[in-house]
Amino acid sequence: MSFAATILTLYPEMFPGPLGISLAGRALEEGKWSCETVQIRDFAQDKHRTVDDTPAGGGAGMVLKADVLARAVDHALERHPDSPVLAMTPRGKPITQARIRELAAGQGVTVLCGRFEGFDERIFEGRPIEQVSVGDIVLSGGEPAALMLLDACIRLLPGVMGAASSGTEESFEEGLLEYPHYTRPVEWEGRTIPEVLRSGDHAKIAAWRKQRAEDDTRLRRPDLWERHWGARD
Ligand code: SAH
Repeated sequence: MSFAATILTLYPEMFPGPLGISLAGRALEEGKWSCETVQIRDFAQDKHRTVDDTPAGGGAGMVLKADVLARAVDHALERHPDSPVLAMTPRGKPITQARIRELAAGQGVTVLCGRFEGFDERIFEGRPIEQVSVGDIVLSGGEPAALMLLDACIRLLPGVMGAASSGTEESFEEGLLEYPHYTRPVEWEGRTIPEVLRSGDHAKIAAWRKQRAEDDTRLRRPDLWERHWGARD
């Protein structure tokens, strides 16, 4: 059974977009995942097909209407009742690799993409929707966030990355950043590959990598270090 991605968007032409290329694109062709878009505007009921309105209380921009969103979400839920519905919003819980792993292990995901100022908040009270952020940045729409989330899921699907990389040694998997990589030439602009990596001593290499992963995490991502390792110090 393949992983079903359903994207609720005002811009269906943005999908599969970059996910139609390279690793994800090949997996799509091979049927390892499917990409279905739902045009939110199809669920507007007035003759102008209105999906947004001005913010209550005043202010700039437009807000996506709860009734239109609900009809689009209900349509997706009917088609994929067991897929979680994730709304892309900077107000959501920051996505983690652990959550991506859970999603990739499931049957698929329905992704709701915002535009303008975002969603009428009542949609989150009225429907079972997980609010997800892809980082402390503001995008112009949920579509690039959806592409990012789906890309992270797809590469973990069985057979997509190949046997060589199970992904378990990568950044975040152990609550650590990954160690740094090097490749030939051994010397580039006077800089050499660390001696230990050329030693052929696998135990030493593993120890060096572990040390670098820990040091780099502590330095670059004290938040991550604290969260995963802080209590154990
Ligand atoms: N007014 C909103 C931002 C709206 S940006 C606020 O300040 O919170 C327009 C849309 O882009 C959002 O509805 C959301 O779907 C998407 N978006 C923007 N930044 C995002 C982020 N960091 N993570 C996920 N989605 C994001």
